[in-house]
Amino acid sequence: MSNVIGIAASKGIAIAKAYVLATPDLSFEKKKVEDSESEIERLDQAIQISKQELEKIKENARKSLGDEHAEIFSAHLLVLTDPEMINPIQDKIKSEQVNAEAALEETANMFVDMFKAMDNEYMRERAADIQDVTKRVKAHLLGVTFPDPALIDEEVVVIAEDLTPSDTAQLNKQFVKGFTTNIGGRTSHSAIMARSLEIPAVVGTKTILSDASDGDMIIVDGIDGIVIINPSEEELASYKKKQEDFEEQKRVWAKLKDEPTVSADNVHVELVANIGTPEDVTGVINNGGEGVGLYRTEFLYMGKSELPTEEEQFEAYKSVLEQMGEKPVVVRTLDIGGDKELSYLKLPEEMNPFLGYRAIRLCIERDDIFRIQLRALLRASTYGNLKIMFPMIATLEEFRQAKAILLEEKENLKSEGYDISESIEVGIMVEIPSTAVAARQFAKEVDFFSIGTNDLIQYTMAADRMNERVSYLYQPYHPAILNLVNNVIEAAHAEGKWAGMCGEMAGDSIAIPILLGLGLDEFSMSATSILPARTQIKDLSKEKMTSYKDDFLSMDTADEVEALIRKISKQ
Ligand code: PEP
Ligand code: MG
Repeated sequence: MSNVIGIAASKGIAIAKAYVLATPDLSFEKKKVEDSESEIERLDQAIQISKQELEKIKENARKSLGDEHAEIFSAHLLVLTDPEMINPIQDKIKSEQVNAEAALEETANMFVDMFKAMDNEYMRERAADIQDVTKRVKAHLLGVTFPDPALIDEEVVVIAEDLTPSDTAQLNKQFVKGFTTNIGGRTSHSAIMARSLEIPAVVGTKTILSDASDGDMIIVDGIDGIVIINPSEEELASYKKKQEDFEEQKRVWAKLKDEPTVSADNVHVELVANIGTPEDVTGVINNGGEGVGLYRTEFLYMGKSELPTEEEQFEAYKSVLEQMGEKPVVVRTLDIGGDKELSYLKLPEEMNPFLGYRAIRLCIERDDIFRIQLRALLRASTYGNLKIMFPMIATLEEFRQAKAILLEEKENLKSEGYDISESIEVGIMVEIPSTAVAARQFAKEVDFFSIGTNDLIQYTMAADRMNERVSYLYQPYHPAILNLVNNVIEAAHAEGKWAGMCGEMAGDSIAIPILLGLGLDEFSMSATSILPARTQIKDLSKEKMTSYKDDFLSMDTADEVEALIRKISKQ
């Protein structure tokens, strides 16, 4: 039994066996083999099992990510049925009398080198397919399992170094009861996705991958950020009780599902949700969201081999807008870069990806990509209450350029005969300190602000949000952050605009009273945070919180602010 401390990333308690999602050791020795026939038989068996697995992965990918994503696995299957690939391996086993592992690897390497050297994008991708497939077959030859999220078919807790967004999207909630990772913070994308999937998660444990092994009994306490490996009977009993209490708490919260969000002194604020895919809308509705405050569209672009088409995007945006009816839906344009890569764009590696060529910077330059997204959004605008916002805006010129492209596409579409809504608000995310400081200038031109504190805190405190070693600097109540947030809200209100927040801070129970006091209009958070936040706001007086505004803004440290909030809430 041992306890590992991490960062609580998604609330709830999970109890199940460990499923280690890590590439196994695939090293082997090249050996002479006399009996070539049985070696070829061994190879065939490994290929057959790999095929069955790939069929299953493909089917799961199709269900969770759509047809296009599933095509990657069709390409993998093709490699395994291609005689031009398989025959040379068999020949090598026979003619050189080597073991199947060696014949497989040497043949595969030869093809990989050949394809990689070709001046053809398609062939280079085939090289990657061969590498992936070879690993799987080799694992089966060596008798080790090659884990994959799509192969999980019993109740488990997934343990990994980190989870990519496409790994996370493939986790089947029916079987994956929780997950825990070595790296990451509360605002890394695997954590954000865990919350939208409502799977308990603890991230940034640093050591869980070496501390736990496949099959260990694991408790993930996503409320307090603890992972327990092989718990004692008493611990198990106490966590089962904690799990039941949490379920009971959820039932109490659920009573406010269809109520508006009003403070004790009857002031309404908007509680909306962050989503990543059209499928997440069900969670928003089930959790009583008053709209969508952030639709992270980059997931449409990730985990596939090419850019999504205008039609594909149009369908996704239309689906979200239709499902939400008259409720507002704020769609953020492509925010790629940082920890969200698009391998097929072949962008050069950067020393500081979070400070680099990303989001709106990339979209303005690659307006071929940007225009397709904007066209899809504009065409979908008549299906609901659409608002568009641009990410990572640092200068007014960037906003003006992005908006000009939007307006150009609107005119183009109108001349092509499309109906476009005339009431689309166009706003920006405030996640770069320059924009927060100069909010007055921006407020004159934008329709709204949405404060992205995940990045605003990372950039203000100069602390990488993916690096658990500096996660102590993620300080939402730091006076610098509160003053920036206040500046943005005041600037918006001075121009008659609204200010929202879509970073994780908006759903933080210590931050909520402060933000209410500072006058924030819209709080956008993981769907599962909405009902606890609504319950909390019901008991808070906005007038009273406003009376503390100067105190919040003039305290010396984040700890002092937190202590003040705890004192106020006891009164
Ligand atoms: C943010 O930066 O606060 C935000 C909401 O955007 P993302 O987490 O997607 O970077
Ligand atoms: Mg951001």
